[in-house]
Amino acid sequence: MSMDITILGSGSAYPSPHRGASALVLRTEGENWLFDCGEGTQTQFMRSQLKASKINKVFISHLHGDHVFGLPGLLCTISLNLNPQPDQPVSCVDIYGPRGLKLFLRVALTLSSSQLLFPYAVHELETSDDQCPEEGRLSPALTTSGDALHPQERPGRTIQLEPDTDCYNLIDDKQFVVKAFRLYHRVSSFGFSVDEKERPGRLNTDLLKELGLKPGPLYGRLKNGESVTLENGRVLTAGEVLEPPLKGRKVCVFGDCSAPLGEGFKRACQGADVLVHEATLEDGQRDKALEHGHSTPGMAAGVALACGARTLVLHHFSQRYKPEALRRDGEDDVTELRCQAERVLQGSGTQVVLAEDFLMLPIALKRNL
Ligand SMILES: [Zn+2]
Ligand SMILES: [Zn+2]
Repeated sequence: MSMDITILGSGSAYPSPHRGASALVLRTEGENWLFDCGEGTQTQFMRSQLKASKINKVFISHLHGDHVFGLPGLLCTISLNLNPQPDQPVSCVDIYGPRGLKLFLRVALTLSSSQLLFPYAVHELETSDDQCPEEGRLSPALTTSGDALHPQERPGRTIQLEPDTDCYNLIDDKQFVVKAFRLYHRVSSFGFSVDEKERPGRLNTDLLKELGLKPGPLYGRLKNGESVTLENGRVLTAGEVLEPPLKGRKVCVFGDCSAPLGEGFKRACQGADVLVHEATLEDGQRDKALEHGHSTPGMAAGVALACGARTLVLHHFSQRYKPEALRRDGEDDVTELRCQAERVLQGSGTQVVLAEDFLMLPIALKRNL
């Protein structure tokens, strides 16, 4: 099963011709998940190989405009281009994000008289006071959304922090476990970890044929881990004909932060195949980054090191760092940011990748445990 991530916006603060505002898509069979949706994300979709209409889940790290201003418009455009079939029910788009997101979307869609051709539900993560300075906290009076839903809105969950793990449990289905964890920023911010579940290994069909077993229901039983009795009376166990299980992949996407908060990130992101982290400013501007609740490449690399991540993707660059190919003499050099992260990660085996808009990163299957 293929899995990849595509960067739709690698810039911070606002969209520019060189870098869109924050947005990233994780794609795997049948799933298209959008992480953050800055202004202009819908045009970034149009310029990419991806289809916005396929998005079935959205994760919003925090409520700063460069991560959420694109969401009402994107939903409306998806709806405009939708051609629902009368006999096919349209599925609900699940949206996860901080407390306040439900009201933001409801007000934007209601006051603009926007109707959608599909239902949506917002599942809000409860924030804690220590996620940001006092001036960044949103009072419950500001974020209480009441019971009057938008016509296409379905009731969503309120998700509490689990004290044992310092994480939020978002999804646990057949294929994936998705958790969120707390970050420190100027407003409450979150990171997300997507854990693909382990899958049974492939059947050794050559061996089965040698044993005289033709493809059929017995193959399915063996694949499910059952033993079967052959015609000659021999009992064949699944372990004899199944290859080792396929270990699931793990992708972690951090929202804006100057540091993770608590231990949740370590639990959720340990051994990540890909860890996406912001690096708004270079290491030489660490004080300014901290003051604005942001990270530098060195700080991001420290997080990747603590999690034992295999690949660190840096993004959310200040708009003054143009993509390498567009840089003119005397302008800030984005490749310097990669070097700063690499210095911290030296000897760890972690690869550092600089995000550019439309960069697609495949995440390879892990064959053996
Ligand atoms: Zn931002
Ligand atoms: Zn922010």
